[in-house]
Amino acid sequence: MQVLVLSSGGWEVFQPLFCNCRVCQKAIEDPFSKDFRTRPGFLVETKEGKFMIEISPDIKWQAARFGIN
Ligand SMILES: [Zn+2]
Repeated sequence: MQVLVLSSGGWEVFQPLFCNCRVCQKAIEDPFSKDFRTRPGFLVETKEGKFMIEISPDIKWQAARFGIN
């Protein structure tokens, strides 16, 4: 069994609006950096198949980022 952590951000949207800290600015500049965090989501792969846990409204972005069909 393998577990892929799609994201581990909080349920509040990250990055906070109007935050000018270094991490938020870096995430805005590069949405594929580790600093760009979406809401939590997990993809579990077993011998029987794949399933997801904690599907968030960010699933479209996570699927594109990790190449999930
Ligand atoms: Zn910030």
